[in-house]
Amino acid sequence: MPDVVIVGGGISGAAAAYEIARAGHSVILFEARSLAAMASGWTLGGVRQSGRDPAELPLAKAAVERWGGLDEELGAPTGYRRRGNLRLARTEAEVEIIRELVVEQRKLGLAIDYLPDKAAIRAIAPAIGPAVLAASFCPGDGHADPIPAVRAFATAAARHGATIRDGIGVRSLTRTGDRVTGVETSEGESVPAGRVILATGIHAPELLQPLGLDLPLRVKLVCVLQSVPLPPIFEQVFGVANADCAGRQEIDGRLRVTTGIGDWPFEPASWTTDALAPRAADIGALIERVSHVLPALADAGVARVWGGLIDLTPDALPVIDAHTGVDGLIVAAGFSGHGFGIGPVTGEILADLALSKQSRFDLAPFRLGRFAETPANDAALTLHG
Ligand SMILES: Cc1cc2nc3c(=O)[nH]c(=O)nc-3n(C[C@H](O)[C@H](O)[C@H](O)COP(=O)(O)OP(=O)(O)OC[C@H]3O[C@@H](n4cnc5c(N)ncnc54)[C@H](O)[C@@H]3O)c2cc1C
Repeated sequence: MPDVVIVGGGISGAAAAYEIARAGHSVILFEARSLAAMASGWTLGGVRQSGRDPAELPLAKAAVERWGGLDEELGAPTGYRRRGNLRLARTEAEVEIIRELVVEQRKLGLAIDYLPDKAAIRAIAPAIGPAVLAASFCPGDGHADPIPAVRAFATAAARHGATIRDGIGVRSLTRTGDRVTGVETSEGESVPAGRVILATGIHAPELLQPLGLDLPLRVKLVCVLQSVPLPPIFEQVFGVANADCAGRQEIDGRLRVTTGIGDWPFEPASWTTDALAPRAADIGALIERVSHVLPALADAGVARVWGGLIDLTPDALPVIDAHTGVDGLIVAAGFSGHGFGIGPVTGEILADLALSKQSRFDLAPFRLGRFAETPANDAALTLHG
């Protein structure tokens, strides 16, 4: 019997598999589609501390430390580059928002600069257009290549002895009394386990509900556009003051930009790829909105557009919890559009929880039970990269 079964091969599950395997424990990861097939592949790939909720900031800071050494540690390129995050102001009202953001973030101990005019912005990022009036700049932020990063974790996990079962879904968690004792796969196989980590993104509620656990997720659809490769023009990640678009240039020169947060009128349990197709109007709005701050986009050839689903919790903070009332179960879901950057640290926390070690982080803000205790406040989804 494996010590741990992980359900879900996004960055959270893959990083957890790596940490558990390298600690010398047996672990099997089940991924229903393929590694990084959902949010961890659809993502923009920003690795950001700036603009984080104070509860998440310690994880984000620790993640930045981890990303810097991951290529060497995992033995494969993750595409991580620490080139900073710019948050742009397009109107006088947004200038005030950015100015206040810098003050608040500095109070939280973050190294972040205020760029007061176009000259200061263009000195750092010449590709940013003249419509941008001011910006914040957090030099410690950065970005990584999502699919290679997830694969790097999974491959390193396998090297340490983890079993990665790609293309095999988990139909249900097996329960004996108050304890989860394993999983049942889509092939009808029963796999017992000491602990089960549920890292299934938007699909977490379906597997929790039969256990009597409620995770109130709203699923949102976001539009992403990727250009053909361009010469290097832009190194940072950009977001904007009202968080309605973000983007970056990937290592091979493609611009990857995102905007257009919409409701998603489908059932998570039974979606097909057609349900991910962004509306033509959203693609038009994306091009207009992003070209306003990054004019080079307007002339770029479009290689791909896709829709990405986001698992948004009522307070836009994730659930990372081993004390759900069901022993043996660890939940990691609801990353609310910013779980990629902290993924390496989520993996570390999940491994600690699965191996009954004390986490070095305060996990109280990430308890599943918080939603039953306080009324939902329906936080807005933000895109900052
Ligand atoms: C457009 C977009 C932009 C984003 N931008 C950023 C950003 O710039 N920075 C940032 O930090 N975050 C960003 N995010 C959010 C980030 O990508 C996610 O929070 C993160 O990838 C979540 O990882 P995960 O492993 O928890 O979940 P997922 O990546 O969703 O992985 C869950 C996996 O579980 C599998 N699965 C589901 N059900 C089952 C089952 N029953 N059995 C087996 N496997 C199952 C799925 O196939 C999937 O591969 C963005 C997200 C999107 C969509």
